[in-house]
Amino acid sequence: MDQLSLYDQILGLTAPWHTTSVDLDEHSEQVSVTVKFDQSSAISCPVCNKHARIYDFRQRSWRHLDTCQFKTIITADVPRIECSEHSVQTQYRAQGYVDYLRSNGCRLSMSRKGNCWDNAPMESFFSRLKVELVYAKNYSSIEEAKSGIFAYIEILYNRKRRHSANDDMSPIAFEEKAAMAA
Ligand SMILES: [Zn+2]
Repeated sequence: MDQLSLYDQILGLTAPWHTTSVDLDEHSEQVSVTVKFDQSSAISCPVCNKHARIYDFRQRSWRHLDTCQFKTIITADVPRIECSEHSVQTQYRAQGYVDYLRSNGCRLSMSRKGNCWDNAPMESFFSRLKVELVYAKNYSSIEEAKSGIFAYIEILYNRKRRHSANDDMSPIAFEEKAAMAA
C-alpha cells in the first residue's frame, strides 16, 4: 500500500476526499498531511440537499491524533457551496446531525475556537468504540446494541482505559482526583 492510500485509511477518508501528500519532518517530529476534495464530484446543499455548485475553497489546518511520536497536522481546502435558495454554505457542518441532536435534547460538544486538539479525544473514543466493539458484533436489535455500548463505555472505557491526556489515568480515576483537588 502506498503512503497516500495508507493515510486515506488512517484518516477514514472516502471519496470525494483523498490524501494528496504526506510529508514527514523528522527534525520537528511532525507529519503534514494534505487532503483534497475532488472538484468534479457532485455536491449538494447541506440545507436542502439539492445539487449545488462549489463557490470557493477555504484552507483549514488542524491537528489530528498523533502518528506515534509524530504530531500530525492535516491541511485541507474545504469547499463552500452555493445553493440557489440558501446562498453560500459550508458543506461539512453536518446540519442534519446538529438538528437531530438538538431535537433530542443533546448538548453539542464543540471545540474551543482555535483549539484543534479538543476534538481528538472524541475521535479517539469513537475509533476505539467502533474497532473494539461495534465492528466485532453483529447486533440483532437496537436494544442489544444499546446495552452493549453502555457496558463498553461504563465498564471498560470509563473505568479501565488510561489516557495520556488524563495523566495516564482512566476517565473515572481522573475525575475522582480532580474532585478531591477541588
Ligand atoms: Zn439549498
